Amino acid sequence: MKADDSVYDLIILGGGPAGLTAGLYAMRAVLKTILVERATPGGQVAITKGVENYPGFDEISGLDLSDRLLQHAQSYGLEVIHDEAVFINPGPGLHSVLLRSGKTLSAHAVIIATGGTPGKLGVPGETEYIGRGVSYCAKCDGFFFQDRIVTVVGGGDTALEEALYLTKLASKVYLVHRRAAFRASKILQKRIYESSVELVLNSVVTGIFANEEGVNSITLKNFQTGNERNIETEGVFIFVGLLPSNEIVPPAIKLDGGGYAVTDDRCASNIPGIFIAGDLKTKFAKQIVVAAAEGCTAALAAADYIDREKNRMGIFDIRSRVATPEKHEAAARPDQLC
Ligand code: NAP
Repeated sequence: MKADDSVYDLIILGGGPAGLTAGLYAMRAVLKTILVERATPGGQVAITKGVENYPGFDEISGLDLSDRLLQHAQSYGLEVIHDEAVFINPGPGLHSVLLRSGKTLSAHAVIIATGGTPGKLGVPGETEYIGRGVSYCAKCDGFFFQDRIVTVVGGGDTALEEALYLTKLASKVYLVHRRAAFRASKILQKRIYESSVELVLNSVVTGIFANEEGVNSITLKNFQTGNERNIETEGVFIFVGLLPSNEIVPPAIKLDGGGYAVTDDRCASNIPGIFIAGDLKTKFAKQIVVAAAEGCTAALAAADYIDREKNRMGIFDIRSRVATPEKHEAAARPDQLC
């Protein structure tokens, strides 16, 4: 009987550091695995200008790191498809995932690593002027603001990193933050204080205005004085945190108050066979290295779960889980073994 091509051991949703690392470990566990990514592999990392804190790399561009993670997983034969998961139908038995293309995949286990999407300010002009001065990616759009005045909004690592990056392009950079203290790492705060960035603290953007050429000004409100003022700016780069991309998480999966999925220390959700890794999962530190570590944990836990499920169903065949030169040549490379 011909095997069903749409039935896998493991489906991974999301191709950021968590998903790609899960793919690498799943292939090394000789699981029939497919990774579904709706955009560019790498997730938020791929649109980060430079990464300075991924161990082993003192500096690497986000795109290079994403490419390396992808190539590493694909060197073990990981199947990566460009599509979007729109619905997950949890087991019992196989879980199925409906894709935007209309195709349905099934698997014994699913790792959801869909990450997060940039938070919005929700002020007048924000949505209207996306692409005409409002941006959520300095690396993508900074080029269009050479020798112009720009404003960055936020006080986290992303806002400070991107503000520093924009000082290399723009004629002036404002950094607007709603408090006086930043939550960004101390090293970035030090660089910001030493840079040419003009800080606008205890303040929020209350409106974004444009003419026919695009954004030309914003209004700012200072919480301490209550004063409102208008400043000239042609770019507004908004980095006010990530919202969990939980749209396709089955309703039965437990989420915390912020919409992040709750798991145990194996990255297992409360639905057997569904695992969560990366920025969608509750955590203390949202770092690339943490997302990668969760991808590893989720894949190893999924492999263990799949073996037990197949045993229970009487379909476990140890020979199908042993890497042979014909089957998974790369997995047997001695230089790649832990
Ligand atoms: P974040 O750390 O959650 O910071 C979001 C910032 O936006 C906070 O300063 C917050 O202010 C502000 N904010 C939130 N909602 C706002 C609103 N409605 N209006 C105005 N300001 C608002 O987000 P992030 O910087 O995107 O980082 C996300 C995660 O990725 C973090 O864990 C971060 O450490 C990590 N990350 C790490 C690196 C790195 O290690 N190189 C780089 C980028 C991101 P309050 O502080 O007042 O809440």
